[in-house]
Amino acid sequence: MKSQDSKPFYEKGLQFECTRCGKCCTGFPGYVYLSETDIKNISEFLQTDKEGFIKRYTRIVYVFHEERLSLIEKADYTCIFWDKICTIYPTRPHQCRTYPFWKRYLVSAREWNKAHEFCPGINRGRLHTKSEIEHFAGDIPNYDISKFLHTYPREPE
Ligand code: SF4
Ligand code: SF4
Repeated sequence: MKSQDSKPFYEKGLQFECTRCGKCCTGFPGYVYLSETDIKNISEFLQTDKEGFIKRYTRIVYVFHEERLSLIEKADYTCIFWDKICTIYPTRPHQCRTYPFWKRYLVSAREWNKAHEFCPGINRGRLHTKSEIEHFAGDIPNYDISKFLHTYPREPE
């Protein structure tokens, strides 16, 4: 995010305010990873148990040589929880809550502005301070799903 002898490009903060346009939730394939806390929070929000939530709304994906749980998508690759709005917005996953303050977009102003070409909420609205930004970027959830795998039907090898 920054070299030792220079300040990060976001030293004076960055503007972001979601327009709820849904572009990042619809229309193209992708993974929305679920941490243990996400699973707990969304299950409670949906008033279901964790196992039921996992079986109905998630799939196993492989990333960085490890298994993670990701939300499933509709046939057109729209997130399963998108219905004109995010229907689990108060408990949306960490990945969704921290977007766009992800390390990959904070490496340079160029990367940040490239993200703006996709997301209309970037560079508008509320100014987020450097410490807020670094809090989001440094908050790495626990994606270990080993304790849930016994509930998950394994795909044949
Ligand atoms: S693309 Fe950006 S503005 Fe649109 S819903 Fe996603 S985060 Fe919000
Ligand atoms: S959980 Fe909500 S915010 Fe996250 S991708 Fe799905 S619809 Fe979008």
